[in-house]
Amino acid sequence: MLQCRHLIKDYITGDGFVRAINDLSVNFRDNEFVSILGPSGCGKTTLLNIIGGLDNYTSGDLIINGKSTKKYTDKDWDTYRNHRIGFVFQSYNLIMHQSVLSNVELALTLTGVSKEERRKRALEALEKVGLKDQVDKKPTQMSGGQMQRVAIARAIVNNPDILLADEPTGALDSKTSVQIMDLLKEIAKDRLVIMVTHNPELAQTYSTRIIKLKDGQIISDSDPADQEDEKDDKTAMKKPSMSFWTAFQLSLNNLMTKKGRTFLTAFAGSIGIIGIGLIMSLSNGVQNY
Ligand code: ADP
Ligand code: MG
Repeated sequence: MLQCRHLIKDYITGDGFVRAINDLSVNFRDNEFVSILGPSGCGKTTLLNIIGGLDNYTSGDLIINGKSTKKYTDKDWDTYRNHRIGFVFQSYNLIMHQSVLSNVELALTLTGVSKEERRKRALEALEKVGLKDQVDKKPTQMSGGQMQRVAIARAIVNNPDILLADEPTGALDSKTSVQIMDLLKEIAKDRLVIMVTHNPELAQTYSTRIIKLKDGQIISDSDPADQEDEKDDKTAMKKPSMSFWTAFQLSLNNLMTKKGRTFLTAFAGSIGIIGIGLIMSLSNGVQNY
């Protein structure tokens, strides 16, 4: 169970601060499909980011499976994000110059699984979202709906307990939105899905619980969850890790995608080194002379 206790989030701005979340308390069950509705600027994204460990809260507490996160270190947050959370954004956030398969695989590189296992799981996830025959395409060759499917595959490839989606259909037409919602509903069968949306009809049709926010506070909740007996942390979390070889391959990959720049940097670097050599020999020669 996931619990927010008297959460407050202030953003410091030029002339004071903005209170984006204002003393918000809520419990989420391990398995439900929650929609968060509310006007623009009411704190929906902020709440989602805090739940997903992408942002810190100012005060209050986020309790994960009965454990307070007040004393979480950066490493604890890394572990939480990598093993428990999947994130889907309105703007997909895919790497455009890499294939669909690499985009999904990349989400697994920090979990320390082998290359073969990564490929296998990525293909499984892509099959689940109905893109098995398009794994070698680049995201630029796809429609918005397809890109969002890739993003969803990336979010579930690690089999997280919690899937967070920030206006996942915000940039899609209504027909494609319905397909994405069907997919999210399927995914929500065995985990917690929390979705922020602007669309009350979609929320009504697909989710099991609707929470309305206003000015950083909950103004209505269609199915509030009581505080159940706090269960112990059932899944021992594995630390995020990346093997040296994976890190090396990733850097090489990155270099190869920007060949021109890599060459220029190397060239400029060598000019510098040769220059230093020339000056040293010149000064040496003058001294001898
Ligand atoms: P929503 O997603 O509901 O539209 P947000 O959570 O993005 O709203 O924002 C809530 C409030 O916090 C808004 O008033 C917004 O201006 C403010 N806010 C969000 N992010 C920042 C930031 N990085 N710095 C300052 N203020 C912010
Ligand atoms: Mg938002």
